[in-house]
Amino acid sequence: MFSELKPLPTDPILGLMAAYKQDTNPNKIDLGVGVYKDEHGDTPVLKAVKQAEAFRLENEKTKSYIGLAGNLEFCHKMEQLLLGEHRTLLANRVRTAQTPGGTGALRVAAEFIKRCNSNATVWVTTPTWANHISLFEAAGLTVKEYPYYDYENKGLLFDEMINTLKQVPKGDIVLLHACCHNPSGMDLNEEQWKTVAELAKEVGFTPLIDIAYQGFGSSLDDDAKGLRLIADTVEELIVCSSCSKNFGLYRERIGACTLIAKDAATADISNSVLLSVVRSIYSMPPAHGADIVNTILSSEELTKMWHEELDEMRTRINGLRTLIKNSLAAKGVDQDFSFIDRQNGMFSFLGINKEQIERLQKEYAIYIVGSSRVNVAGVSHTNIDYFANAVADVLN
Ligand code: PLP
Repeated sequence: MFSELKPLPTDPILGLMAAYKQDTNPNKIDLGVGVYKDEHGDTPVLKAVKQAEAFRLENEKTKSYIGLAGNLEFCHKMEQLLLGEHRTLLANRVRTAQTPGGTGALRVAAEFIKRCNSNATVWVTTPTWANHISLFEAAGLTVKEYPYYDYENKGLLFDEMINTLKQVPKGDIVLLHACCHNPSGMDLNEEQWKTVAELAKEVGFTPLIDIAYQGFGSSLDDDAKGLRLIADTVEELIVCSSCSKNFGLYRERIGACTLIAKDAATADISNSVLLSVVRSIYSMPPAHGADIVNTILSSEELTKMWHEELDEMRTRINGLRTLIKNSLAAKGVDQDFSFIDRQNGMFSFLGINKEQIERLQKEYAIYIVGSSRVNVAGVSHTNIDYFANAVADVLN
C-alpha cells in the first residue's frame, strides 16, 4: 500500500524553518514561523506559566482521563475570557470543549458542522491561514473564499467582502478572524463588525470565529469586541480559540471549541454532538496546558503576572511595527510602508515580489515566506538596521 504513495512537498513554512536552522550566517533572521520572539530571538516560557507548572507538579493528584470536554474549569474560564459577562453566558447558552490547540478546535468544529449540515460550505477570507483550507477540506467540507485583503492599497476590500457575503446561502459557515488577521494583520473595525453581524442575521449564515491571538492586538477585551458583537446579534455561532500565542503554550496544544446556541436546551443537544465528535477523533484532550491556563486564571497574582507578560509581548510587537516603518523610511526606500504600523498582531505582507524575497534569503539570510508575509516579532533593535538595509537594497 505504502509503495503506491507519491511524496508531498513540505509545508512551505516548515521547510523555511528547516532551511533557517541549517543556515550558518551569523546575521540570519527568521521572519517566517508564526511564534512570538523576544529581543533575543527566543520564545521563552512565560513566568506565570512556570509558576503554574511548579504548582501543578506539587498538586497534581491523578493521571486518570479528564473526560471528553477536558478540564471543565478551564472551559468556563475560556468562556469568560472570550465573552466577558456576556448575556449568552448568563442565559446558559454557551458550551465549550477543551481541544488540542486552536487547530484541534477548528477540526472539531469542522466535524461538528458536518453533523449539522454535510452540504455546508465554509467561506474563508482571501487570503487566510493556509491550514484553514486544508483542514476544512480534509474534513470533507467545501471551502470557498470571500474578498478580504486589498494587496494594492494594503487595507480591506470591505465592500467586496460584504457583496460576496450577501450571496452566501443560508446555512453556510463564514469564518472570521477575531483579531490580528493571519496573514495580513488587517482587522475589521467596530462598525464593520456590526455590519457583518447584521448581515449574518439577515442572510442566515453561521459565523465561525477563529481567535488565535487574543491580547496581541489591542487588549484582551478589545480583541474580543467583534466576537462579542456577533454574539449580541446572532442566535448561533462557533468560536475556536487558542492559548498557543497569548499563553506561549504552543507545544502543549491547548485551545477550545465553544458553541453558542439559541437557548440552553439547544446548547445541551449541540454539546452532546460536539462531545461525540471529540470521542471519535481523539477521545479526550491532553491535561497539561488546560491545567496551566486554569491555574493562572484562578489566581489573582498569576493572572496579574500573565497580563503584564502579555502586555509586554503586545507592546514589543507594536513598537517593532513603528520601528520597521521608520527604519525603512530612513533608508530612503521609495515604497510606503506606513501600513505596517496600522496593522495588528504579528503578521503583515511586506508586499515585495518573489525575486526580492529570494534575494533576501540568498544574500542576507533573511527568511520570509513566499507570500511576503513577515512575522514582525522576528525583528529586534539589534537586527533592524541589517534588515532595513537589506530590504532597501533589494527594492532599490
Ligand atoms: N488560527 C490561526 C489564524 C492561526 O494563525 C493559528 C496558528 O498559527 C491557529 C488558528 C492554530 O493555532 P494552534 O493550533 O497552534 O493553537
